[in-house]
Amino acid sequence: MEPWDVTIVGGGILGTSVAYWLAARYDGRIAVLEQEPAVAEHASGRNTGVIHRPFYLNPEKAGVFARAAGISYHLWKRYAAEKGLPWSEVGTYEVALDDRQRAVLDEYMGYARENGMEPSEFELVDGREMARREPNVRCEAALLSKTDTAVDYQAFTRALKVDAEALGVRFLTGTGVTSVEASAEGLAIGLARTRDTARTRYLIGCAGGGAIDLAHAAGVGLEYTDLHFRGEYWVIQPKAADLARRNVYSVPRHGDLPFLDPHWIVRANGTREIGPNAVPVSGPTSYRGLIRPLGPWVAKFFEPPVYNKVRLLLDKDFVSLSVREMWSSISRAEMLRRVQRFLPALRLEDLVSPGTAGIRTPVVDRHGHIVKEAIEVPGPHSYHILNYNSPGATGAPAFAARLVDRLAARGDLDHLRNDPKPQKVWDWDAIARAMGFPGPAS
Ligand SMILES: Cc1cc2nc3c(=O)[nH]c(=O)nc-3n(C[C@H](O)[C@H](O)[C@H](O)COP(=O)(O)OP(=O)(O)OC[C@H]3O[C@@H](n4cnc5c(N)ncnc54)[C@H](O)[C@@H]3O)c2cc1C
Repeated sequence: MEPWDVTIVGGGILGTSVAYWLAARYDGRIAVLEQEPAVAEHASGRNTGVIHRPFYLNPEKAGVFARAAGISYHLWKRYAAEKGLPWSEVGTYEVALDDRQRAVLDEYMGYARENGMEPSEFELVDGREMARREPNVRCEAALLSKTDTAVDYQAFTRALKVDAEALGVRFLTGTGVTSVEASAEGLAIGLARTRDTARTRYLIGCAGGGAIDLAHAAGVGLEYTDLHFRGEYWVIQPKAADLARRNVYSVPRHGDLPFLDPHWIVRANGTREIGPNAVPVSGPTSYRGLIRPLGPWVAKFFEPPVYNKVRLLLDKDFVSLSVREMWSSISRAEMLRRVQRFLPALRLEDLVSPGTAGIRTPVVDRHGHIVKEAIEVPGPHSYHILNYNSPGATGAPAFAARLVDRLAARGDLDHLRNDPKPQKVWDWDAIARAMGFPGPAS
């Protein structure tokens, strides 16, 4: 069979968005290989479901993510309206519990402006005003981001898959990739289920929790390793739903590990949940269990490069935080206690059942540091996106458009015929202007 011109590995929201834009801009044989029977079965279908406005992203450190999130809010809004998908602009209160956190809110006000949010979209509220608006929420002050929105990212990804298919993309679900070897025409890809080999001229790795393994299989990104943290939620009984009308997030206690503090969440269907925590687990699909079975843990620890993890584990704060996170998985009371810091009226009996857990996969560098930004690693006939974490679902359409532009600028898409098709919902040129591309080739 003819080789694929471009193969995208991973049918999450990122891989699906990349496939959509590739086919919208180019003609060629484009395939998405997804190991699960459907798209968005992992992080993209198991997250908090919030369109995050970029008020909390430092534009100097998280410039691309901040821009992508800022623009994608408008893209998803139009997309949801066009497809009739859930869109609930519930808004988020980011609450400060002490003076240090109050100062962080001032910083966030600056970020919101620098990241292009309209002054009418956010507001600083003092403790007294909060007591009037949300009497059950205890805080010194809060920043209200009025347009944070509850959505269903799995529904977005499925709809986008249909659009990509209409443009000619083939989604091969149930097709896991086990190996990547250089071949005369490009790459030979080993397939898990059939043990067949697929051939491709070019590969784009968008494999989420499997991204590091895929990059290592292709012989790149060898200086990085990863960790997996399961984020668990508790569903709140309907009787307690009015404890807060909007999302309530607290300023992260550990700026380096912003995903540690659980929130009060309003889901797109109106139900309330608290979560997620961040429990270390042994793999990207370890949705159950903690320490047992031991085998996968041992394998995970000794996976090369071991040195990165050894350095991280020498960090006593990291180890004690991880143990506490594991405790929050075992103890419902511990999860409750964390949220009671800002919502003291919440009771143990309000936490009625576990929600759908999702797994984050942060990358660890050779200094033992958890990397904050997405990492882009070019390889022979390939390009890999690693560490594509929150707010990755929010920013996916703009991030993917920028990626396609970047690959074109590198000459990696020269084997495809440039053929921009008219778009009904999204405007490539407007996204390009807002994201600041065509960008420099790297
Ligand atoms: C608990 C949690 C809460 C979050 N909350 C939010 C939020 O509210 N808002 C927000 O914007 N972001 C949020 N995020 C982040 C967001 O969900 C992710 O950034 C985004 O979904 C990543 O998309 P992805 O396509 O890169 O990864 P994924 O959705 O994980 O997709 C990767 C795909 O690759 C497939 N794959 C992996 N390896 C292989 C292989 N070898 N062969 C074939 N297929 C393979 C997997 O099966 C998977 O389907 C959250 C994440 C988590 C975990």
